[in-house]
Amino acid sequence: MTLPRFRDLPLFAKILVPFTALILVIGATGAYFIVRDLSSRTQDQLNRELLSHSLDARSRIHDRELYLLESVNFASNLQGMAEAVKRKDSQGAAKLLHSVVALKSDLNLVAVTLGDGRGLVELTRASDAGIQQGSGTAWGDMAVVGTALPGKGEQKSPGFLTLGSTHLLVIASPVCSGQGECAAVGAALVGIDVQTLVSEAAGKGSGGTVPDVTIFDGQGDVVASSGIPVEKVPASASGELTRVNERNSGLARSVLYSPLALQGSRLGTVALSLPAGPASQLARRAGFRLAALLLFAMAGVVAVGALLSRYVLRQLRPVLDTSHALGSGDLAARAPVLARDEHGELATVLNQMADQLQASYSTLESRVHERTEEVRRLLQERTEFFAAISHELRTPIAVILAQVKMMRTASSRNKARWSDESAATITHSAEQLLGRVNDIIDLAKADSGTIQVLLGDVSLPKVLREMKQTIEGLASANGLAISVDVPARLPRVRADSSRLKQVILNLVDNSVKYTPSGGRVTVEGAAHNGRVEISVADTGVGIPPECGERVFEPFYRVPGVSPSRGEVSSGLGLAMAKRLVEAQGGTIAYSSEPGDGTTFTVKLQPAK
Ligand code: ADP
Repeated sequence: MTLPRFRDLPLFAKILVPFTALILVIGATGAYFIVRDLSSRTQDQLNRELLSHSLDARSRIHDRELYLLESVNFASNLQGMAEAVKRKDSQGAAKLLHSVVALKSDLNLVAVTLGDGRGLVELTRASDAGIQQGSGTAWGDMAVVGTALPGKGEQKSPGFLTLGSTHLLVIASPVCSGQGECAAVGAALVGIDVQTLVSEAAGKGSGGTVPDVTIFDGQGDVVASSGIPVEKVPASASGELTRVNERNSGLARSVLYSPLALQGSRLGTVALSLPAGPASQLARRAGFRLAALLLFAMAGVVAVGALLSRYVLRQLRPVLDTSHALGSGDLAARAPVLARDEHGELATVLNQMADQLQASYSTLESRVHERTEEVRRLLQERTEFFAAISHELRTPIAVILAQVKMMRTASSRNKARWSDESAATITHSAEQLLGRVNDIIDLAKADSGTIQVLLGDVSLPKVLREMKQTIEGLASANGLAISVDVPARLPRVRADSSRLKQVILNLVDNSVKYTPSGGRVTVEGAAHNGRVEISVADTGVGIPPECGERVFEPFYRVPGVSPSRGEVSSGLGLAMAKRLVEAQGGTIAYSSEPGDGTTFTVKLQPAK
């Protein structure tokens, strides 16, 4: 199974995954530091407790040291003791020692030896039995007593002794005879059970937390312990005060070591221990609580994230649905704008896009409709155009054919006369035919943009001067008054002078054709706003307003109107004139009042 790529995850997962990871990292780091802090605090607390117990224990041990010292002084200095030893009077010595035991009830051993170290009297006290009296023990073999014997040092010395299964803390003192200088005759020794000592040092019965106290001898062997003995004295504990953590049979505890010194000599080591369990348990519990809190926070983040993403996606859904609808062609679909946030903005933008799409679509539709109409119209016009051409060409051809037929069927008597007349008619019709064909060719050229126009700077007054005679001849031949009015100084125009003459002649010819005899034709040149205009006006039949621009279409003739004196009318003159004017960069337009006359105006480009 391959894991999905991050960018392919759903939105809410994209948000939740990093957040959860972040919370985990922050939480785990926090938990680690808190637990560490808590552990070190609880460890400090434990150490402080141990230190205070240690002080108590040392003071209790010191009390016992003083007690032993006092007891041994008491025993060795008892009046009559030295004499009793010298005399080896065991009864007298026993009596004296019994008084010591009576007064010092905590002692477990009181003994007095002869000068050679043999026991003169020994009183021992066990907890379950009473006081036992004995004698003859070779105390001098024991180092602690040896140093107090005559000739072997004769000084007080502390140490451990083992009697059967009992370990004792003992102080030995020389028994001296005489005043002033000590003249040792034997030794006295007193001892207490070390087991009792450790129990006392532990402070048992004092309530509160009780440490385990272990006493080691100088060799590092356990002498006594108030609870589970500490395993060993580490090398580092040989100094004044040492703290180590010990794991004894799975039991974690803190141990504080301190030297056990009596009378200035180091006897061994006292170790105080407290279980570290409660402290570490506290820290562990705090750790668990933190982990639970973390899990709870993560669950919260996931839940809130899921709810939020559901909320966000629910707002997004209508926008998505609308996009789908638009994509499948429903251009009327719009997304509801539910709020003014990013969703609202998205919906608004989508709706604007849909509006534009719909508008473009309907524009496109109407354009297609327009184009279709245009194509249809063009096809129609083409049909009409060809019908008109055929008609225009058929008339002269029909005349020619009729003349030829007549020539053939004419009797030989009339043939000579007929052929002269027919030749004239045929020539006229053929010329008419040629004229039409030339017009059509010119029109086709103009439409295809291949008509030749030689543009140059042209003087309109000069052009009209050159045409004046022709124009006047045309008008007067048809019984019309004519005036050609052009100012001598007009700006030069950009035109083809021969094409311009063709246009003017065509307009004058139309005015003559559609103005009954007795009317007037006026040709004028003028300049307006730097543009030169030529107008050809008449007082003829006029053009009805509904004809509009159609008069410029090929073969168009105003319905019901024919030339005043039966002139030829092809419907090609204005179409050609318009194309020629436009080819020279000009415009042509007209104004007319039916019955009153018509004015055609040609505007030309100024010369460069
Ligand atoms: P035509 O050979 O018929 O004169 P044109 O293209 O020159 O063809 O003119 C088209 C039609 O416009 C004419 O048939 C006529 O009905 C109308 N027309 C043109 N000039 C005039 C005018 N000066 N007065 C009235 N009608 C005119």
